[in-house]
Amino acid sequence: MSRTRIYSEVDFTKDGKQSAFLRLPHSVHRSAYGWLPMPITCIKNGKGPTVLLVSGNHGDEYEGQVTLMKLTRRLQADDVKGRIIILSAANYPAAMAGMRTSPIDQGNLNRTFPGNPDGGPTAMIAHFIESVLLPMADVTVDLHSGGSSLMYIPSALARRAKSKADRANTIKLMEVFGAPVSMLIDAPQGEDRTLTGGAERVGVLHMGTELGGSGTVTPGALAVAEKGTARLLDHFGVLRKPLHNEKSGKTRLVVVAGPSYYTYAPDNGLFEPYVELGDDVRAGQAAGAVHFPDTPWREPTIAHFERDGVVVCKRIPGRTERGDCLFHLGSDYSEK
Ligand SMILES: [Zn+2]
Repeated sequence: MSRTRIYSEVDFTKDGKQSAFLRLPHSVHRSAYGWLPMPITCIKNGKGPTVLLVSGNHGDEYEGQVTLMKLTRRLQADDVKGRIIILSAANYPAAMAGMRTSPIDQGNLNRTFPGNPDGGPTAMIAHFIESVLLPMADVTVDLHSGGSSLMYIPSALARRAKSKADRANTIKLMEVFGAPVSMLIDAPQGEDRTLTGGAERVGVLHMGTELGGSGTVTPGALAVAEKGTARLLDHFGVLRKPLHNEKSGKTRLVVVAGPSYYTYAPDNGLFEPYVELGDDVRAGQAAGAVHFPDTPWREPTIAHFERDGVVVCKRIPGRTERGDCLFHLGSDYSEK
């Protein structure tokens, strides 16, 4: 495979704070020699770890984007010991459009890793992250949320590693982040085509989030994101002094261990949820009804939970189609 075709205006080896663009070649009718300007910031000050912070991997997930834009402006070279790289609009065309996927090539960045330098814009971005940014990093944090169609209890998430030592490392990161819920996931959505998958291939410690969603930003979710990210940077040893001194609250550690944790729409129609975020539910319990506006005299189809758990995620839009995720659960987890 050839090298990246994305040119970085930022010199990642240089000390100081640089904010500039990654130039993604984009030759189109209105601009023959044009490029897409992907904003990136590199703040480097001497020796220390490299932390890669990412948001806008999905363009309609805004809490992480706001958090990293504020951090981009706040952090100066004097605050840093090592290097912090901030990519706040990772799938730039999607972030500019406020969409999960790119309007240029319909690419879902977090289903495109390891990417392709000879592919469309989304594949080129995935390839740049996995082949250029991740190899520079000791740790990466990818800030997601529920996007337009889902809403989460503000959560951290990580894969449930096979070894106890690796699990302890990721649980520690989630405890430092301090979201109300922390999810260990066995069979992640997107499998190894995600930034997480790339981080595992490159051997970089990784943590993600699901901060809220429904295409909004709330003060509550933002506070979780900002305070948690600042605590993580301090924990990684990349700050000269902490950005704040607020300790993390207690997080509810849950596991999401496969398809039985997800409830899907059994039919096309209008979705009536029966439960809310944070509710504890039982296997077999009715989760919601799908009504049929075209035949209102027809009895609705009822969706059921397949297992016990706590509702950590729910669908937002009222209209639904068979196969849409309505809810997903977590179940309490302890290493002991
Ligand atoms: Zn996402």
